[in-house]
Amino acid sequence: MAPSVMSTLSATYRSRHKVLGYPVDVVSEEGALDVVKAAWQNEKGIHIVTLNAEMVVQAQENQELDRIIRHAHLIIPDGAGVVWALKLAGQQANRLPGVELAEKTLQLASDEGRRVVLIGGKPEVLTHLETLIPDRYPGIKLVGSQNGYFSKDEEDEIVDALSNSEPELILIALGVPKQEFFIDRWQHAFPKAVMVGVGGSFDVWTGSVKRAPKFFRQCNLEWFYRLMAEPWRAKRMMSSLPKFGFQVLGASLKGSGRKSTDSDSGEDKG
Ligand code: UDP
Repeated sequence: MAPSVMSTLSATYRSRHKVLGYPVDVVSEEGALDVVKAAWQNEKGIHIVTLNAEMVVQAQENQELDRIIRHAHLIIPDGAGVVWALKLAGQQANRLPGVELAEKTLQLASDEGRRVVLIGGKPEVLTHLETLIPDRYPGIKLVGSQNGYFSKDEEDEIVDALSNSEPELILIALGVPKQEFFIDRWQHAFPKAVMVGVGGSFDVWTGSVKRAPKFFRQCNLEWFYRLMAEPWRAKRMMSSLPKFGFQVLGASLKGSGRKSTDSDSGEDKG
């Protein structure tokens, strides 16, 4: 019998830690894929968040995003900043980039012949992707797609059409926090779907944006490469990354202060 999503998630939650109060599931790629498999086998919709430092800072300033992240079923450490914070707190952690998990999930969907919907990206990017997906993942049933440039008034109709095909995987590339808000608003319409916000992944897969070369990824400097390649990100990154860094360092110093006080008092008692 297939394991239930809850039992698979419970196992995952044993490796749930916190970064600045936000939950992060320190899972391997296989662990995350097991959650996806269990969701499909049990026909249960889930929301996967790919957490990075910018998102944490945005959530601190936006109650809606804060709530959505905390309620997600699986929250993976997408960003180098999140992994750094976990390591500083003494946890063993590796990055699990959202773009890579999404690729592996597409492969799994192809192997299992699952129904997939793509939402987001510029119209020409999405059109290109619609031709790439069947080439790369021939087993996938691509049952719907929608570019990312629609108004709120159009959403009802769009969701209605897409939900008729009962998708099992929906990748939503609208950027943060738009994609998380979309998932929160419409999860109820896709009760069997694994929903993942994938940011700029459609641009990467179609080659309209280049992902950082291996060297940058291995050195946890993908964010720096993105900053160089897309300088318009500077304002956003520069306002959030230092904020994140200082808070993590502050929390770490407080934590180690508390630890040494605890052990001092332990010695006193002994
Ligand atoms: N996008 C979209 N609709 C919008 C705004 C953005 O479809 O209204 C798409 C955009 O074309 C791009 C992606 O969302 O493909 C955002 O990518 P980005 O790398 O900026 O995501 P983030 O850094 O927020 O993860």
